[in-house]
Amino acid sequence: MSKVIAFKRPSPKDKHKGKTLCRSGFHKWKVETEQKFDVKQGKLVTVLLCTRCGERKHKLI
Ligand SMILES: [Zn+2]
Repeated sequence: MSKVIAFKRPSPKDKHKGKTLCRSGFHKWKVETEQKFDVKQGKLVTVLLCTRCGERKHKLI
C-alpha cells in the first residue's frame, strides 16, 4: 500500500507551457459571469475568463 498523493505545484516550465498555449489561441476558459445582459449587443452574454493569462471573452447565447 503505497499510494502517494503528489501535490502538483506549477513549475515555471508549466507556466511557460500554458502561456505558449494561450498565445496559440488555446485558452483555458472558465465561466466568470453567467448570462449578463450586454447593452451594446442587446443580448445575453456569458463572460469567460482564461485562468492562465487572465484574458476575457464574451460568449453570445
Ligand atoms: Zn489564456
